[in-house]
Amino acid sequence: MMNVIEFFRNLPKKKCSVCGDEMEEKADCYGNVCDECDHPAR
Ligand SMILES: [Zn+2]
Repeated sequence: MMNVIEFFRNLPKKKCSVCGDEMEEKADCYGNVCDECDHPAR
């Protein structure tokens, strides 16, 4: 039986499409942009 946690652990890390940094999976979906690049004040 497949462990759900193992499944998510095996997923590749998301990368920011702007700066290319790896980013944590977020609950709300902003697309593929990290917090730094997504910041409206920058
Ligand atoms: Zn970024």
